[in-house]
Amino acid sequence: MKDIDLEAFRPVAFPEIGPDKTFNANFCRNPMCPNFGPAADLDDYADRYSVVRDDVIRTDRRYVCKTCRLSSRLLSNESLHAAYVWFKRQSIPFATCPAEGCGNAGVNVFEHWGPDRYWYDNRNRSDIVRCVKCGTRFSIGQALRLHGDRADPKGMERRLTAIFKHVRLGLGLRTSIALLEDPAVSEPTYLRAVERLSCKMLDY
Ligand SMILES: [Zn+2]
Ligand SMILES: [Zn+2]
Repeated sequence: MKDIDLEAFRPVAFPEIGPDKTFNANFCRNPMCPNFGPAADLDDYADRYSVVRDDVIRTDRRYVCKTCRLSSRLLSNESLHAAYVWFKRQSIPFATCPAEGCGNAGVNVFEHWGPDRYWYDNRNRSDIVRCVKCGTRFSIGQALRLHGDRADPKGMERRLTAIFKHVRLGLGLRTSIALLEDPAVSEPTYLRAVERLSCKMLDY
């Protein structure tokens, strides 16, 4: 097997699912085959599989299990990891130690909270946490206090949409608030809404 193909079998670090966890999606898909599941090391992968070009999509590669002959598309572990992180960030809050190379880099505070990972740092500010691995302090963000309204459950969504349109048109804060004609939108609420929108933009 060529070195470049063998590299696709190298497990990638996956701190988002747990400390010291790695991940490799390329192995025999046949549960009845002894090669089903991860191999011990790259040499083992080279012994178990051969890589061929896909007949239909010429840029794709497939790996064939030497034991049971089942073939599967060779996947990029890096891309799968990136896709996982992207979807995860859309579905649950996400914050991680900002220090590069730290053992907690990529590990989500909201999923791995504890005295050996992330812990409280400031009695007066509940949003400041400390990375226990490297000591970096950082903010995990404060609640924006944009409450919903039971009588008008779609109200916040509507306000955010209107404010987003105004910001895109380049309207100033006062003009925008006047145009909204919405007693629920005060200056602080407006600013929090803009902050919320900017967070959403960053996520995308
Ligand atoms: Zn097999
Ligand atoms: Zn850290």
